[in-house]
Amino acid sequence: MNKIDFDIVIIGSGVIGHSIAFRLKQDAPHLKIAVLGDPVNSLQASRAAAGMLAPFCECDEADPFFKFCRESLTKYPEFLKELASVSEVSVHHSFAGSLMPASSYRETWEERKAFFAREDIPHEVWSSEKVRQKAPYLAEDCGEVMWVGEGQVNNRQMHSALIQASGRRGIHVLEANVSGFIRDGASILSAVTDSGNINGERFVLASGSWSSQLARVLEVSIPLKPIKGQMCRVQLADHFMDYTLHGKMTYIAPWREGNGFVIGSTMEDRGFDPSVENAVIDRLIANAAEILPCLKTAPLIESWAGLRPAAEDLMPIMGKSGRYENLLYSSGHYRNGILLTPNQADYMSALMRGTLDNEIPEFSPSRYNL
Ligand SMILES: Cc1cc2nc3c(=O)[nH]c(=O)nc-3n(C[C@H](O)[C@H](O)[C@H](O)COP(=O)(O)OP(=O)(O)OC[C@H]3O[C@@H](n4cnc5c(N)ncnc54)[C@H](O)[C@@H]3O)c2cc1C
Repeated sequence: MNKIDFDIVIIGSGVIGHSIAFRLKQDAPHLKIAVLGDPVNSLQASRAAAGMLAPFCECDEADPFFKFCRESLTKYPEFLKELASVSEVSVHHSFAGSLMPASSYRETWEERKAFFAREDIPHEVWSSEKVRQKAPYLAEDCGEVMWVGEGQVNNRQMHSALIQASGRRGIHVLEANVSGFIRDGASILSAVTDSGNINGERFVLASGSWSSQLARVLEVSIPLKPIKGQMCRVQLADHFMDYTLHGKMTYIAPWREGNGFVIGSTMEDRGFDPSVENAVIDRLIANAAEILPCLKTAPLIESWAGLRPAAEDLMPIMGKSGRYENLLYSSGHYRNGILLTPNQADYMSALMRGTLDNEIPEFSPSRYNL
């Protein structure tokens, strides 16, 4: 492979890169698009995540980020339907909702309730008696529990479906590691890979936690770093619990279809460290068992680590570069990149087609002079 010319070259084959390609090719079928990704990257966040679609449990103020997350949740059912019809890969998902026990949010419980009421978030507060009827598996000292109307998706299946759908929509998926760029002044001409140079009209940096390394090659300094999460999955029967459970420093997400429950997660500022530590996994399970006691004896299926791409202000970085005339960014989706996938794909596609009405200043690369 030596000289290939594309209209759009997307660097990063996680859910962010693939979903941009998927949406853009639908919106502008004439575009020749390539997605480049390092296939041996086991730390990529898109397969490491728990798949919670949780704008309400994750956010506590109605800022532009919350609004964007909420819109993305609304787009999810249609997005998954479209993805399934193109990919023919089944992606398990559920909108049964989340549970938040009061015992995990002692100091902020009243604030959380007020926020949910003020923002008209679909929720119910269950008394301890109601909890005993509706969720008898919870620990007795959970107190009141809030049911919240949000969702969950099997993100590994969704990532596989996006890769399949990209291929079917005629996107070139190249398993290539980008090591550099050929530039001409403020213009990028090619991405340099082991398989040759990939020439493009425009480039999108969507390389998750690795975006800052790649940007450095372009002499751009993105204040973004990986925040490691260690996770595990345990065996529990599907019918055991329909909801995702959010506790203090813990969450438990049902993966269904016999896949057990995912328990997360640590937040570690340790660079690109891939290690998984038994003691940490034991602690995750012990924390989770404080609200779901049966986890103490649930067999462990697997454990892993992944890297969340975190910008300094913890906001996504989405938009046009001010330094290169043909470069765009979509990175920094941190703890919510699975949730944000549909809305960020629409946003980036509209931006690239020149139809985006309002750019969101809080997400703009210009805040970091990129
Ligand atoms: C433990 C954990 C739990 C999470 N749980 C949730 C959750 O429940 N809900 C939620 O919404 N979000 C969750 N997230 C966050 C979410 O997973 C991420 O925000 C999202 O997956 C980021 O996607 P991405 O495509 O930007 O990055 P990644 O998935 O990391 O993909 C980056 C891509 O760039 C490629 N790449 C890197 N370097 C190069 C190179 N030099 N050349 C070519 N390609 C390169 C990699 O191979 C990879 O394909 C979680 C994350 C972690 C780690």
